[in-house]
This record gives sequence, structure tokens and C-alpha cells, in this order.
Amino acid sequence: MELMKCPQCGSQFPENTRKCPVCDYILDGSGYYEPESDISQYEPPYGSVYEERPEQTGGTGLAIASMVLGIVAIVLTCLFIGILPGIVGLVLGIVSIAKDKPGKGMAVAGIVTSAIGIVLFFLMFAVILAIPT
Ligand SMILES: [Zn+2]
Repeated sequence: MELMKCPQCGSQFPENTRKCPVCDYILDGSGYYEPESDISQYEPPYGSVYEERPEQTGGTGLAIASMVLGIVAIVLTCLFIGILPGIVGLVLGIVSIAKDKPGKGMAVAGIVTSAIGIVLFFLMFAVILAIPT
């Protein structure tokens, strides 16, 4: 069996020893000695996110509206009904980010989906104009 050497007092002991029997030096890097693992139970990874939400619900409305309108814009454009939701969704998304409102990811999604809806509208418009009737 391989022997380890205590970096503090220099005494030798079997490899799987986690604590020096002579000077009580705790050996780092053993891999399976993690006294802090129990603490993680009291800190759920998403706890802080949920704590922040109640104060910010008013602000995310703009970003949510932008995202929903962007999706609506794509759907309506595919049905060739209108471009209006795309324009509104694009504006709301830009306003939400410009005012630094929470829900930036949703606002970006709203801008992207709205832009896609607008681009789709003009593409379809061009296609329809190009088709000889
Ligand atoms: Zn030691």
C-alpha cells in the first residue's frame, strides 16, 4: 500500500487516511471527504430567483407582452392576417430593454419573434406580388 506524508508534521500513514493521526491536519484533495455537502441542502439553487420575483412582477409584463405579441405576429403573418402585432411586439421589447426592465430574456425573445413576423410578412408580400395573377 502506498503511503502518504503529512504536509504539516511529515509523519506517514496509509493513502486513504483523511486526517493526520499525529497532528490532526485535514488532507485536501482526498475526493470523498466533503463536510460541506450537507450545507447545500439549505441553499436551493433557485431560491434567490424566487425571492426577487414578487417585487418585479410589474416590470416583466412588458417583456412578456413583447414575447407573446412576437409569437402572435408569426402566427398571424403565416395566416396573412396582419403585421400589427409584430410592430407592437418589437416596440414593447425594445422599450422593455431600454428601460432596463426585468425579463430581458423574454424581451429579446419578443424582439426576435416580432422581427421574424415582420420579415415573414414582407417576404410573403413580395412572393404574392411576384406571382402573376
Ligand atoms: Zn501531521
